[in-house]
Amino acid sequence: MSPAHAEIHRTVRDRLDQNDQRYTTGRRAVVDALAETDGPITLPELIDLAPALAQSSAYRNLAVLEEVGVVRRLVHSSDHARYELAEHLTEHHHHLICEQCGSVRDVTLTPELERRLDAAFATVSSAEGFTPTHHTIDLYGRCADCRP
Ligand SMILES: [Zn+2]
Ligand SMILES: [Zn+2]
Ligand SMILES: [Zn+2]
Repeated sequence: MSPAHAEIHRTVRDRLDQNDQRYTTGRRAVVDALAETDGPITLPELIDLAPALAQSSAYRNLAVLEEVGVVRRLVHSSDHARYELAEHLTEHHHHLICEQCGSVRDVTLTPELERRLDAAFATVSSAEGFTPTHHTIDLYGRCADCRP
């Protein structure tokens, strides 16, 4: 296990502890699988990565991990729900979602671009008397494989 994963496991264990939940082998396997991928994955993809997990228990474990705030569930149009580790365990990023094949890729902007986005949002928010804490932005279109 990489040091980065050790840190993730520590944080997940703390969150589960705080919620009177145990960090079972199944939950560890789910977190390991999500930590290995570069984008959010569907339940069938998760089972492929962690074949020891039964589908029903993988789903239950994902629900618990989502409830304690360490897994984020993404639902886009007609696609299956996809799961990834919460941003506080990884890093802030955005998604490129292919409307053709349903693939979803993580992309990270430069700090300069993030600052410019936040500045733009600060302008519209303050006009509404709204105080933003964070943003989520996903882009829809065609991936490289599906481009005509
Ligand atoms: Zn595609
Ligand atoms: Zn993501
Ligand atoms: Zn951003």
